[in-house]
Amino acid sequence: MAAIELSNIEKRFGGHAALAGVDLTIGAGEFVALVGPSGSGKTTLLKTINGLSEPDAGEVRIAGEDTADQPGHLLRRRIGYVFQEIGLFPHLTVAENIGVTPRLLGWDKARISGRVDELLDLVALPQEVAGRGSSELSGGQRQRVGVARALAAEPKIMLMDEPFGALDPLTRDALGGDYRALHDKLGLTTVMVTHDMAEAVLLADRIVVLAGGRILADGAPAELLASTTDPEVRALLEAPRRQAERLRQRLGGAA
Ligand code: ADP
Ligand code: MG
Repeated sequence: MAAIELSNIEKRFGGHAALAGVDLTIGAGEFVALVGPSGSGKTTLLKTINGLSEPDAGEVRIAGEDTADQPGHLLRRRIGYVFQEIGLFPHLTVAENIGVTPRLLGWDKARISGRVDELLDLVALPQEVAGRGSSELSGGQRQRVGVARALAAEPKIMLMDEPFGALDPLTRDALGGDYRALHDKLGLTTVMVTHDMAEAVLLADRIVVLAGGRILADGAPAELLASTTDPEVRALLEAPRRQAERLRQRLGGAA
């Protein structure tokens, strides 16, 4: 059974179609990168999956169940969500931030604190950050807390909206690799929006290209590159390779 199934999703804002007939089926365990220009509907698509945005037409199924009649807040407890400006609660400690959803679920204190310890290990943060406020963390550490918080109630699906976009390249690389390992270890289904084609090619099993609220291309990175006839998609996919070649030319033997 598919983890996520979108059929013929349409969403309009005023006269503008943000999503114009999207069909997308994502199998359990897949890691999908969602790419496309600004305003192409990527964020709206993620929010359609977790019920933060209600489609004007079409159907959303999560693990086979139609979500139309499910309360959004219950759906969102089963689906982790990480975004760029992670929005940790500034007046709460790291441990309290990670424990937000478990507290809503009524877990007792011992269970929450056990889960927080476990999650800090999982996202490779030292236990001593548990008592800190978010202002005492680096950008990379904050995003790790965001990932831990999203995973707290053991969701099987993770939606990530440019999660590492604001980080320096080294931190970004490390977090991307670590998150991919977590995805595999926990058997997650991940949909990650990214502007960075190299990140998409390196991390994802499958790349979905959105443009103007429609899916322009969809496939494994190598397969897409080999098969697409669309110049826009080709240019997008070839960007990392062109960049690597330019780097080699400029740096010569040093690269
Ligand atoms: P992306 O994440 O790819 O940049 P979005 O999904 O945020 O794109 O937006 C898709 C289109 O829908 C854009 O034209 C955007 O301006 C519009 N849009 C998104 N959310 C809203 C909203 N809440 N109200 C009005 N227009 C919106
Ligand atoms: Mg967006």
